[in-house]
Amino acid sequence: MTSSALVLASVGLGIVAGAFACWAVFAARSAGRRRTAALHPELPEAAVEVLHSLDGFAVILDSSLSVVYANPAARDDPRISGEELRDPDFLHRARRVMSTGAADTLDPDPHDPSSSVRVRIVRLQRRFLVVLADDLGEEQRVNAMRRDFIANVSHELKTPIAAIGLLSEAVLEAADEPEIVRGFAKKLGKEARRLGDLSRDIIQLSEAQSTLRAEDREPVALLAVLRTEIEAHRDYAAQQGVEIVVTEGDGGSGGPYDPVTMGLPAAIGTAMANLLSNAIRHSPEGGRVGVGIERRDGDCVVSVTDQGEGIAPEHLPRLFERFYRVDAARSREGGGTGLGLSIARHTMRRHGGDIEVWSQPGVGSTFTLVFPVLEEQPRRRKRKKAKPGKPNARKGTAQ
Ligand code: ADP
Repeated sequence: MTSSALVLASVGLGIVAGAFACWAVFAARSAGRRRTAALHPELPEAAVEVLHSLDGFAVILDSSLSVVYANPAARDDPRISGEELRDPDFLHRARRVMSTGAADTLDPDPHDPSSSVRVRIVRLQRRFLVVLADDLGEEQRVNAMRRDFIANVSHELKTPIAAIGLLSEAVLEAADEPEIVRGFAKKLGKEARRLGDLSRDIIQLSEAQSTLRAEDREPVALLAVLRTEIEAHRDYAAQQGVEIVVTEGDGGSGGPYDPVTMGLPAAIGTAMANLLSNAIRHSPEGGRVGVGIERRDGDCVVSVTDQGEGIAPEHLPRLFERFYRVDAARSREGGGTGLGLSIARHTMRRHGGDIEVWSQPGVGSTFTLVFPVLEEQPRRRKRKKAKPGKPNARKGTAQ
């Protein structure tokens, strides 16, 4: 036999074997359903067919609340075992459904993160109960996160909104005393900025959490974006008595390191700006903020190092969570919203990169952005530079 005939024969055999296997599985399933129907001829066959095809847990109980049919998901799911049906609360509800005919739904406990199963009990033909259960796992988690986020946002908004209300009343009462009015007006401006920063960061966070579509991405020259953000922070650093020291790596081929990634220049600029403003804000007067850009294992690494108070190790795992602050009062006083690092992390992840932190109390902190690199462009070669987008000077700089 020639080799092509051999190949054809094996493909043919494979198709026959596959068809036989499919038929065997189908036949076994039909037999299972037929067995159920044979044991309980009064069970409506159509209902069994439907429950059999469901991905979620489904069982049928008879009037004594014994299981007369369990679909494949109910037999296989270790989280929802048959014992669950013996739960006293469940039995109580099941009896009520059986006697009244009114369907019942047990929702997961919103205060218990481990409770994620929704159960629905429906009466069928007066003699049976159908119990359907769905594990809402992910949906439940997302809902809990959404609730938590809304609670945090309203808490953050409450203070400046209340302050603006009180200050405006105070301005009216002190209308004849210009000096006092000026003082109140200054405070009003601060609260209004706080509201503005918060709404800007909430918008940036929601953008950073959305998926980055391929068609929205463009080549981003990381060095150009970084330089723009550094320039935008020079005044703020000077006001704080902090020096920014920049180290640009070389490209390894004699030219400067000029990496390009694919993404959104403005979002990448925001991530860099957030690290720069944090580093400046946490630096002591006379301190230095070191900014580096270099190659690491084919990625581009942008690091921002400060000589600030550092962060205790117990805070590090939660540092990138939304609204997480080590010192809430200090963060608010400095114009922080508690969202900067969270925006940076989401931005990096949607660009296929990541953010890292090293910190030691009393020594300082280093935050590192890791970007996948599309190409490295020695500056000597001419090419169209990607627009770096508007600088994203944040806290302090805008005040
Ligand atoms: P914020 O707007 O409060 O700065 P971030 O999300 O940017 O919010 O940072 C979260 C918290 O992490 C800050 O409140 C601060 O406690 C801590 N943090 C961030 N950067 C630094 C840093 N360079 N040095 C010390 N602590 C920092």
